[in-house]
Amino acid sequence: PLVLGIESSCDETGVGIVRGHELLANEVASSVEEHARFGGVVPEIASRAHLEAMLPTLERACATADVDLTEVDAIAVTAGPGLMGALVVGVAAAKALAFALDKPLYGVNHLAGHVAVDLLEHGPLPTPCVALLVSGGHTSLLLVDDIAGVAGRGIVELGSTIDDAAGEAYDKVARLLGLPYPGGPVVDRAAATGDPRAIAFPRGLTSGRDLERHRFDFSFSGLKSAVARWVETRERDGLDVPLPDVAASFQEAVCDVLTAKAIDACAATGAKHLLIGGGVAANGRLRSLLAERADAAGVTLRTPRPGLCTDNGAMIAVLGAEVVNAGGRPSGPELGADSSLPVSRVLV
Ligand code: ATP
Ligand code: MG
Ligand code: FE
Repeated sequence: PLVLGIESSCDETGVGIVRGHELLANEVASSVEEHARFGGVVPEIASRAHLEAMLPTLERACATADVDLTEVDAIAVTAGPGLMGALVVGVAAAKALAFALDKPLYGVNHLAGHVAVDLLEHGPLPTPCVALLVSGGHTSLLLVDDIAGVAGRGIVELGSTIDDAAGEAYDKVARLLGLPYPGGPVVDRAAATGDPRAIAFPRGLTSGRDLERHRFDFSFSGLKSAVARWVETRERDGLDVPLPDVAASFQEAVCDVLTAKAIDACAATGAKHLLIGGGVAANGRLRSLLAERADAAGVTLRTPRPGLCTDNGAMIAVLGAEVVNAGGRPSGPELGADSSLPVSRVLV
C-alpha cells in the first residue's frame, strides 16, 4: 500500500511516504536549533514549530515522491508517546487529511515506528527478533513477534530503563561537560579522539543481585552522577578535564551495557536476529561494538542507516503499511494523542 506517515511527537516534524517497504520520501523539519539555548526541548516552542512546518513538509514529501495526495491508500500518524502539545498537531493534521481525502486513518506508536523503520532497509523482519530501542526518552529491550502488534505476542517489553534513557544520559553528560544540546552527536564526536579505558565508569545493573533482579533493565543515572563527581573532583584539585577521555569512557560504559544486555536477550529468547532503533542507534561506537558481539554470538544484526534512527515520518509510514497489510482496523475520527502510550500498543 501507498502510505503517508506523519510524525510530530517531539521536535521533528516528519512526513514520509512509502509503498510497502519502499521509501519514496522522507522530509523532516527540525526545531532543534530553537531549543538549543534552553538546553532541552521547550514544549510550547515545539508545538508552534510543528504548526508552521506541517504543511510545507507535507508538500515537500509529495513533491519528492511525485505522489498526489489523492493516490495514497492510507494515512498513518504518531498517536504517542511524546509531548502532548506536539502530538496533537500531527494527529489533527492527519485527521483533517484523512477526512478531506476520505482515506483510512491509523494512529500508531512512535516507539514501534523506531523499530519498524528497519524494514525500509532490510525488508521483512524474521521473527521473533530482539529489538534494542535507544532514544531520547526511552531505552528498552523488546521481543518482536509481529511489528504490527497483531500476530503472536506482538511486541513484548523484556525490560527498560529504571531511571534515565540512554539519549537522556548523553544529553545530561554533554550539559555538565559544557557541550551543546542535543548531546548525543557532540559526545559521540568528542569521544572519537579519547581513550575509552581512561576512566572506569560504573556499568549499572550488570552484576550480583542487581543483575538477577534486572536482567534486561538499564540504569544510567548513576553513571551520569559518576561523571559529574569525576569532573568536580578534577576541577577542585585544579586539574584539567580531558574532555575526549571523559566522553569516550562515558560512551564505553553506555555501549558496553546496552550491547551486553541486548546479546543476552537474544540468548534468553532464542532470537537469531537483533535490530536497533531510536536516536542513540546512530552512535558509531554502539554500532561497532554491537556488530562485534553479535558476530561472536552468531546473531544477525540489522542496523538502519543513522539518518533513519532519529525521528522521521518514514518510520510511521512503514509501520502504517505493516498495519494495513496485517488487516488492522482504522482509527476512528475520535482518535486522540496519548503522551504515555506503551510500546506494546502498536495501533490506537
Ligand atoms: P523518544 O523516541 O523516546 O520519544 P526522541 O524521539 O526525542 O525520544 P530520538 O529522536 O529517537 O528521541 O533520539 C534523540 C536522542 O538521540 C537524543 O537524546 C540525542 O542526544 C541522541 N542521539 C542522536 N545522535 C546520537 C549519537 N550519534 N550518539 C548518541 N546519541 C545520539
Ligand atoms: Mg528530536
Ligand atoms: Fe523518537
